[in-house]
Amino acid sequence: MTAAALIETRTTCPYCGVGCGVIAQHDGVQITGVRGDPDHPANFGRLCSKGANLHLTTLPEVAQTSRLLTPGMRVERSAPMQTVSWDSALDSVAERIAQTVAEHGPDSVGIYVSGQLLTEDYYAFNKLTKALIGTQNIDTNSRLCMSSAVAGYKATLGTDSVPCSYEDIDHARVLFISGSNTAFAHPVLYRRIEAARAANPDLKIIVVDPRRTDTAAEADLHLPILPGTDVMLYQGMLHIMLWESWIDRVFIDARTEGFDQLKAQVRNATPAEVARVCGIDQAALLEATRLFATQGPTLSLYCQGLNQSADGTHKNAALINLHLATGQIGKPGAGPFSLTGQPNAMGGREVGGLANLLPAHRDLSNPAHRAEVAAFWGIDEVPTTRGKTAVEMFEAARTGQIKLLWIVCTNPAHSLPNQQAVHEALSTVPCVIVQDAFASPATLRYADIVLPATPWAEKDGTVTNSERRISRQRAVLPPMGEARHDWLIAAQVAQNLAARWGRLQRGFAWADSEAVWNEWRELTRGTDCDITGMSYAMLDAAPQQWPLREGEATGAARLFTDGRFHTPSGRARFVAQGYKPVADRVDAQFPLALTTGRLRDQWHGLSRTGLVPKLFAHAPEPRIEMNGADMGRRGLREGDLVAVESRRGRQVLPVAASDAMRSGQAFMAMHWGEEYLGGAGTHGVNSVTSDAIDPVSRQPELKHAAVRVSKLDLS
Ligand code: SF4
Repeated sequence: MTAAALIETRTTCPYCGVGCGVIAQHDGVQITGVRGDPDHPANFGRLCSKGANLHLTTLPEVAQTSRLLTPGMRVERSAPMQTVSWDSALDSVAERIAQTVAEHGPDSVGIYVSGQLLTEDYYAFNKLTKALIGTQNIDTNSRLCMSSAVAGYKATLGTDSVPCSYEDIDHARVLFISGSNTAFAHPVLYRRIEAARAANPDLKIIVVDPRRTDTAAEADLHLPILPGTDVMLYQGMLHIMLWESWIDRVFIDARTEGFDQLKAQVRNATPAEVARVCGIDQAALLEATRLFATQGPTLSLYCQGLNQSADGTHKNAALINLHLATGQIGKPGAGPFSLTGQPNAMGGREVGGLANLLPAHRDLSNPAHRAEVAAFWGIDEVPTTRGKTAVEMFEAARTGQIKLLWIVCTNPAHSLPNQQAVHEALSTVPCVIVQDAFASPATLRYADIVLPATPWAEKDGTVTNSERRISRQRAVLPPMGEARHDWLIAAQVAQNLAARWGRLQRGFAWADSEAVWNEWRELTRGTDCDITGMSYAMLDAAPQQWPLREGEATGAARLFTDGRFHTPSGRARFVAQGYKPVADRVDAQFPLALTTGRLRDQWHGLSRTGLVPKLFAHAPEPRIEMNGADMGRRGLREGDLVAVESRRGRQVLPVAASDAMRSGQAFMAMHWGEEYLGGAGTHGVNSVTSDAIDPVSRQPELKHAAVRVSKLDLS
């Protein structure tokens, strides 16, 4: 192939929430390479190792062995999957849903989707679930990564609105990075942090993390708090700010409410007490507080370390409290900035594709909001009660309340916590429909019906990154095999159901993804995430941040600049809530605090990065990392096979010494599942993780499990 024959198509990386612009080089049949889009404001041409190797996940020879390419069905789980026509598969899906609803009611259906879906896909599934089937039982694997951030913003700012932009990194004088190994999980954003530091040697970086990650190792100050003690740390910082008069009294009086309750609550969070509970040095605590409060603007970047917790909502709120107390929000370089893990977790939040949300940040408990959505969709009412969230949905399947699970673009038999319970649920539920581009054996094993979907290179639509920036994802190649777009599959099942039930006949007759987008953006009119001014044509010219109302030329880089918040009073709310320890406590039987996380070159359950051999060079195999002293006490040597056991399950893998953690702690990456660990029955890190959930956000505590580690007896 000559270089002249190549075409270049602008699109967006489908991995993390940084949302980098990618230029795919191809001949219309095969993608031969990718490069960073120099004009995309998320990355300005940079790509990380995952993004730079995207084309290698699309090679025809790779796709033939990794993709789902034809619809399939089987009469029972022990029978082989038979290839069927799309008409037959779609009719069977609709038939099974109609039958389940008729026999057990709409709440017996659960639809479990993904932050990998495009906004148009999310919208179609949300409408199908809530407007047609008549249940709020749609939830997403994004529940596992960002629902505590949503709940934290709503509790304090009154709305799920990320106040900041990536450009705030360039304006900040202090970066306060909490529970985020940005260098590994958001690599291109970390390059921006490095560039900001090179341009401004006075920029101070503080990292709060139990582990000395690559991000922490480069920080000016690392606070290695004990797992789960974040709220105590933030309350201690506020205590010091009050003592030293480092708060912004004018901002507090004019723009907030609830400060007096919080002030009373942090009275006992003295530096000595906080240092004891958090296991950190008092001098470091004082210095971090001084930098945060007096050397700003301070920008907080945070992610799963706060979110994946049974107290994640309060961790988020406690950090936002610090920004409100110092007036550091709505200004260049200042604010609380949650980073999203997945490429379109934000889009899912916007369309309301979760069990407790309505489209465009409308509130499920607000009758006027429900009426607006119902009127738009042409139905009498939307279901009023919150549906089952991720962990709850599978538990409801396990206990028989949910009779049909439709799993879209995700691999819950690998990624949900407490895998023993998840596999029991998948075995128990009478009907499992799996819709995906890639064949993930762990979940596929339970499928009664398989629907092949298009992946990144073949689909068209939009995604929203961590900074509220919406970018176009464009089809580079035609669909392989018989794969169809996710939104189209949802629409075709919906049309079949609508015909059976005699309602909403024209509600899903979209011609293409742009038609879905145009309907969706109209539903945002007048809301805080109004995108009525954002057309495909505009996005084709350049990605845009929301809100962007009809008639406006550009979106908003920064929110709350006028000091008004989306609460009834217009004031931001301080949340006063005490420190709550981790749910799964260490004890003599399970003495190690295990935390989990991402590696630099891998993505989720390896369905795509696992197709690229060179991405294993950085970390060739799964392992549990432990402090050398803990290994010595157990007679363990580097590479020994060990059994890792929790109150829920067991995993076998090699051990590696690491000085990144103090004694009593351990770390495992989230990526490896049964395909890499010895087949069915080996579930990776989630064999041992806890399914304890935050009572507000319903996000599980994937960041902490109490475990014991012992040498495997191979005799
Ligand atoms: Fe893709 Fe994230 Fe890497 Fe950017 S930083 S190239 S979005 S994986």
